[in-house]
Amino acid sequence: MKYKFLDLAKANEPYMEQLQEAACNVIKSGRYLHGEQTSLLEQEIAGLCEAKHCVAVSNGLDALRLILRAYIELGVLHNEDHVIVPANTYVASVLAISDNGMTPCLCDARPDTMNMDTSLLENLMTPAVKAIMPVHLYGTPCWDEQLMAIAERYNLKIIEDNAQAIGAKSSTPGINGTVTTGGLGHASAISFYPTKNLGALGDAGAVVTNDDELAKAVRAIANYGSDRRYHNIYLGLNCRMDEIQAAMLRVKLRYLNVENMRRTETVAAYDANITNPLVMKPCIFDDMLQIWHQYVIRVKQRDKMREYLEKNGVMTDIHYATPPHKQPCYRRFMSYRLPVTTAIADEAISLPIGHPITASDAQEIAKIINGFKG
Ligand SMILES: *Cc1c(COP(=O)(O)O)cnc(C)c1O
Repeated sequence: MKYKFLDLAKANEPYMEQLQEAACNVIKSGRYLHGEQTSLLEQEIAGLCEAKHCVAVSNGLDALRLILRAYIELGVLHNEDHVIVPANTYVASVLAISDNGMTPCLCDARPDTMNMDTSLLENLMTPAVKAIMPVHLYGTPCWDEQLMAIAERYNLKIIEDNAQAIGAKSSTPGINGTVTTGGLGHASAISFYPTKNLGALGDAGAVVTNDDELAKAVRAIANYGSDRRYHNIYLGLNCRMDEIQAAMLRVKLRYLNVENMRRTETVAAYDANITNPLVMKPCIFDDMLQIWHQYVIRVKQRDKMREYLEKNGVMTDIHYATPPHKQPCYRRFMSYRLPVTTAIADEAISLPIGHPITASDAQEIAKIINGFKG
């Protein structure tokens, strides 16, 4: 295949020496958890998200689970509460809600942002809804006045799923007056899964918040529920980040802007060169900063287009072919009418934007796409 979708070994190759040195230093230090790398990473990530606290944890799903669990332990949320979550998301957003015994309320997407349609929120409101989980899908911020107004009117906690958008900036400031995703709502979760824009060499994630009590509770729950050694105030879990992953992430964090710029240039090349009327391109908004985790085009004859691209050496992917409400584990949502989410699931194609794809590759791929006659 001439154009791979994503080559992780290639993506990490430029940093090989620094990664090796950082890993060696951790091995030599004898400190593999709760070390200096983890706490430095926490400071750096909190700074990046313009927030006060960051708690490094085991992965993105755990980060989301821990936020909800901590709110429950603090008496802010309860197991019987409902949480609004976009229907067009990776299933992990929804799983975090179910894991806490809470009920997900699926909100359909907007065709332009492919994010949660905040104009539908009012209709989804019931007395049971106590929180809302916007997902900044594909790296496009999901944040606006409508979302903030509903949250304020109904006193909802806003928990951002920032797994795909670290470093993105919203056009509307968040509840703390800042604009970087992850610091817009009351708490947020990041994933450092290897394929994310800031990827570890294994599983890792983080919770970010300005709330002192929440940060403390998340940290304790993630560490067996202990607030100090051999003193357990919660029925806790073990959801810590390895020191070695923190060290890997600190190396890669220095190049996050460079990597995001690279993807932005690739996206610009697609946007300028794809002219096929059978293709709906994702919107590029000039009033916000999208960081492009995925570049998702929509094509009615999706499978035919993917086959054609594959025949022409272009590997593509689908995010996500089966939305959460069509998954066997969510049979109870199977009959929900979510027309935009369903259309996206039927038509979406993710074009390659990660390593080793360059902007000039994107130009060539655009030419191939323009040759598709349906
Ligand atoms: C990747 C991802 C997660 C889960 O993160 P993991 O680190 O894989 O557990 C959650 N939500 C979204 C939107 C994601 O893309």
